[in-house]
Amino acid sequence: MNVTLVVPVYNEQLNLNTFIDEFNRHYSKFSELNYNFDIQFVDDGSKDNTAAIIEALANKYVYVRAILFSRNFGKESALFAGLEHASGDLIIPMDVDLQDPFEVVFEMLKKYEEGADVVLAKRIDRGTDTYLKRRSAEMFYKVNNKMSSLKLENNVGDFRLMTRQVVNEILRLKESQLFMKGLMSWVGFDTVVVTYVRPARNEGDTKFNFFKLWNLAIQGITSFSTLPLKIWTYFGGITAFISFLYGLKIIIEKLFFGINVSGYASLMVAVLFFGGVQLIGIGVIGEYLGRTYLETKQRPKYIIKKSINENQRAG
Ligand code: UDP
Ligand code: MG
Repeated sequence: MNVTLVVPVYNEQLNLNTFIDEFNRHYSKFSELNYNFDIQFVDDGSKDNTAAIIEALANKYVYVRAILFSRNFGKESALFAGLEHASGDLIIPMDVDLQDPFEVVFEMLKKYEEGADVVLAKRIDRGTDTYLKRRSAEMFYKVNNKMSSLKLENNVGDFRLMTRQVVNEILRLKESQLFMKGLMSWVGFDTVVVTYVRPARNEGDTKFNFFKLWNLAIQGITSFSTLPLKIWTYFGGITAFISFLYGLKIIIEKLFFGINVSGYASLMVAVLFFGGVQLIGIGVIGEYLGRTYLETKQRPKYIIKKSINENQRAG
């Protein structure tokens, strides 16, 4: 059985060698279980020595393969490219910073042997993440699962085992605005969960700041839900109805009791409130329109500058 680890890397020169050492430490145990592993690196346009180190590793180890992007396209695109180039019967996306431990891979393989098509690795302890990241992640899952018909498992990242059949279905999805965690869940199949404690990043810093995570969250919600668009119909309907009643009251007062419109304050509050509400509505439409616009261009998701050891099966 061939297993491909899909590993997107961006400026990870400090982590690559440790990752390979860690892999080699487990290699014989994988072989004993009759699994033949190879590693599909995707260099996401690194600006440091990452590409050179990958080339050196590929020269040294026959199981290392890689594609190098022409620039940074982001982890979502890198992951998709990795899935497209992975040749294994089983495919496991992994981070290079050792936050996704190899020990968990054994548990995944066991679950696969028991009949699962997808094995999710769920973080039961996010103690190594910052407080802000934990809370915002928690909020994202809550909001997403309320809004979207696609329910995402809490605290599950891209680290998961998928069979060839599952990956082939994911690769049929044509969108260029990617939210991989969503796409990988959307295809379904028999899914089980294993849990693990997520260790701290080996070397270097996280590539995801708050702004990037925020955009990823919006990408996730807009990818699978149109509720933020539809909400305005109902909100508009309700306010129009209330406004109609209020307008009626003013007209009646004016006609029968001769009371003039009172107050600058109420006028101003209404103008400002509805001005704000309308701008939010336009913003939400903009989020969707912008994505639709990019989608219609049908640009490729990534550009490969160079392939290393492609078409060469490990072992
Ligand atoms: N990564 C990537 N392209 C990017 C950002 C990150 O390929 O634009 C890779 C990165 O090298 C790492 C993985 O994606 O192997 C996860 O990134 P990171 O560890 O920074 O994310 P975190 O674990 O903090 O969520
Ligand atoms: Mg990490």
